[in-house]
Amino acid sequence: MRLSRSLLPTLKETPAEAQIASHRLMLRAGLVRQTASGIYAWLPAGYRVLQNIARIVREEQDAIGTQEMLMPTIQPAELWRQSGRYDAYGPEMLRLKDRHERELLYGPTNEEMITDIFRQSVKSYRELPQMLYHIQWKFRDEVRPRFGVMRGREFLMKDAYSFDLDYSGAVASYRKMMLSYMRIFQRMGVKAIPMEAESGPIGGNLSHEFIILAPTGESEVFYDAAFEAMDFSSGTFSHTSDEDLERFFVQMTTPYAATDEKHDTAAWASVAEKRQGRGIEVGHIFYFGTKYSEPMGLTVAGRDGSKVVPHMGSYGVGVSRLVGALIEAHHDDAGIIWPDSVAPFKAAILNLKQGDAACDKICEDLYAQFAGNALYDDREERAGVKFADADLMGHPWQIVVGPRGAAAGKVELKRRATGERQDVDLAGVLARIG
Ligand code: ATP
Ligand code: MG
Repeated sequence: MRLSRSLLPTLKETPAEAQIASHRLMLRAGLVRQTASGIYAWLPAGYRVLQNIARIVREEQDAIGTQEMLMPTIQPAELWRQSGRYDAYGPEMLRLKDRHERELLYGPTNEEMITDIFRQSVKSYRELPQMLYHIQWKFRDEVRPRFGVMRGREFLMKDAYSFDLDYSGAVASYRKMMLSYMRIFQRMGVKAIPMEAESGPIGGNLSHEFIILAPTGESEVFYDAAFEAMDFSSGTFSHTSDEDLERFFVQMTTPYAATDEKHDTAAWASVAEKRQGRGIEVGHIFYFGTKYSEPMGLTVAGRDGSKVVPHMGSYGVGVSRLVGALIEAHHDDAGIIWPDSVAPFKAAILNLKQGDAACDKICEDLYAQFAGNALYDDREERAGVKFADADLMGHPWQIVVGPRGAAAGKVELKRRATGERQDVDLAGVLARIG
C-alpha cells in the first residue's frame, strides 16, 4: 500500500477514552475506529492483522483435522428454547424479531446450531468422531464493553465443536485441541498458559482457559511460578499418537495453573511457589459431555444398534481480542512491535526525500518486489514524521531510503523489535528480510 493514498489515519495525540496501551495504540496506529459502543470497524491495516491471526488459527485447526464451515450470525430462538438456554442466557443476548414476528437472535455462540445441523445428518457411530469450526462474528451485549476490541460487543471468534461416541473419545479430541492451541499461540509469538477453569456441573479437569499474563488483563489467575521460566517459543508441540498426546497433556498441565484459587486443591498442594496475577483470556477449551446433545435429541446408532448420545466439547479463540492482546504483549513507548507472523506488512519503505529521482526509483523498485507486502511511505512529510509513524505502526522492518545511501546503492534496515540498524546493498534487502 502507498501511504499517501491509504486509509491509515495515525494519531499523534493519545485518545482520551483509551485506558490501556493496546487500545490507545490501535487507535493511534489507525487500525480500528469505534462505530458504536463496543463495535468496531477494521481499517485496512487492522484488517490485515485480523486476517493474519485468522489464517494461523485456520491452518492449525485444519492440521488436526477440524473441518471449516460457516454458520450464520442470526439464529432462531427456537433452537435455544430446545437447549433451555434462551431464558437462561440473559441480557447479554441480542434478541430480534423479523417482519413475521418470528423470534431471532444474534448468535453469542453456536452450540445449539451445530448440534441441530449435526443431528439432521449424522446417524451412525461410523461417522464419528468429527470436529468442526467456523470463524464468525458474535454479538454479546456486554455490561461494560471496554479496552477496545478486547471486550467488544461484536467480536470475531473461532469456535470449534467436537462430537465423540464416549468420554474417552472426547478426551482425545480435547487433547488434540489443546495441542492445536499451543501451536496457534506459539506461532503468534505469545505465551498463552493453559489454566484449569471452572468446568461447570460435569466436573473433571477438562476446561482450560489460555491466558496471556498481563497486568492489564481482566482475569485474575493463580499459577505455579515455574511457568514464568517455561519456554513456549521453542519446540514444535508435535505429537501424533494417543500416548504422545497424553504425555503432552500432562506436560502442559504440570506445573499447575488455574483461574480459581480454590480449584483442585490436590493439585495446588504440589505447587512450591504460588503466584497470583492477571491475564488476558485468548482461548477456552471445554468438554461438556451431553449437555446439548441430550436435551436436543442428538443420537446416533451405536455399534450394537442401541442409541448413543454423543459427547461434545467446544473450543473458542478470541480472534479479534488477540489483536489487542498481542499488542499488550508486544509494544514499547514508541508504539506497536508486531511479531512477523501477524504484522500487517512485512516492511515499511521510508522515502526520506520524496521527489528525488534516485530515492523515488529505489523505493518504487523495492515496493514492486514486495508484491503488496510492504507499506510505502510516499508522503510529502519530514523524515521525523515518517520514523515516528513507522515505529508507531510497528512494522517488523523499516527500509530507510535517503539520498546519501541512494548514491552508494545502499539503504538502511531497521529491525523494530531490537532497534538494530544496518546498511545493506540494495540487492540484499529482500534476502535479509525474507
Ligand atoms: P470472558 O470471560 O472474557 O467474558 P467468555 O468466557 O465469555 O470470556 P467464551 O464464551 O469462552 O468467553 O468465548 C471464547 C473466546 O472468545 C474467549 O476466550 C475470548 O478470547 C473471546 N471473547 C469472549 N467474549 C469476548 C468479548 N466480549 N470481546 C472479545 N472477545 C471475546
Ligand atoms: Mg463472557
